[in-house]
Amino acid sequence: MTVGVAILGSTGSIGTCALRVLERHPDRFRVVALTSHTSVDALARQAAAVGAPFSGSVTADGPDCLVEAATHPDADIVINAVVGAVGLEATLAALEGGKRVALANKESLVMAGELVMGAAARGGGEIIPIDSEHSAVLQCISGHPAAVARLILTASGGPFRDWPADRVRGATVAEALRHPTWRMGRKITVDSATLANKALEVIEAHFLFGLAYEAIDAVVHPQSIVHGFVEFVDGSILAQMGYPSMELPILYALTHPDRVPDAGVRRYDPVAAGTLTFEPVRPEAFPTFALGVAAGRAGGTAPAVFNAANEVAVAAFLTGRITFGRIPELIDSALSSHAPERAESLGTVTLADRWARAHTEAETAP
Ligand code: MG
Repeated sequence: MTVGVAILGSTGSIGTCALRVLERHPDRFRVVALTSHTSVDALARQAAAVGAPFSGSVTADGPDCLVEAATHPDADIVINAVVGAVGLEATLAALEGGKRVALANKESLVMAGELVMGAAARGGGEIIPIDSEHSAVLQCISGHPAAVARLILTASGGPFRDWPADRVRGATVAEALRHPTWRMGRKITVDSATLANKALEVIEAHFLFGLAYEAIDAVVHPQSIVHGFVEFVDGSILAQMGYPSMELPILYALTHPDRVPDAGVRRYDPVAAGTLTFEPVRPEAFPTFALGVAAGRAGGTAPAVFNAANEVAVAAFLTGRITFGRIPELIDSALSSHAPERAESLGTVTLADRWARAHTEAETAP
């Protein structure tokens, strides 16, 4: 019997990569549901090519198609590759339904980490991260989850890694989209340029692996070869490595805890890869990182506010309404105007998300 897979966000960067991986393993997996945001034609082509019995586009069929695909009776694994807060409900529904969620939508955990982990415990579902850093950590800790002392997530540093802080503030959209090592969607590429993405990943790791924020560090690693380090209680450190490609994290999320042969992943050559270097995050050039980690530490609804303000600010930057340097200022404004509450229900989280969006929209209005 093959394992049924639903892909939410199948026409995006992670979704198309997942389809390439699945195509190499027809003996193990079959695609049972696909969803897209706006790309109706591309979705129809994908559904026809893989013979998916269900497909839905948020624009044409409404947002309910995400939950419908996530709870599809033939789906054993749900790849959630939706961009942004809109992916949360589908994550919760799939976990309540006892499914494995292969999670690329880190916003689900950032906005509502406790609710998501609670839904998994209640419904018997599980979350396996597709994010490369978290996949690295999971691969390193498998077998010794109780002996972890510290995680170190790596960041490429983005296109502005070595720029002076004042030059970063004036960066253009084209410059922000020129990522040195990873090919990704526009939103996450800007998040990599601000290091918002790394802050979101610290919060994601806090919930996924149940570690205190003091035990989660980030380090800049421009070559993007080491995806994450795990330090154990005896001081030993394991790292997971490979060329930057999402194919391995996707495949591992599908097969965890097993590994299967795969000819599609480029083999690592330590000599050809050259020197690996590590640097600290520069807080003066990347204030968004500290804002995000502070929101994580504040807890409750603060991470949802950080995420929502960031989404609105990034969209405003991409459409030329604000400068790059305004992104952290807008996030700071939303966080400092918000009194965090316990994130005890989807309603509370959704309210905080909407409030932060409205607050930030108002500040970006021309
Ligand atoms: Mg990542």
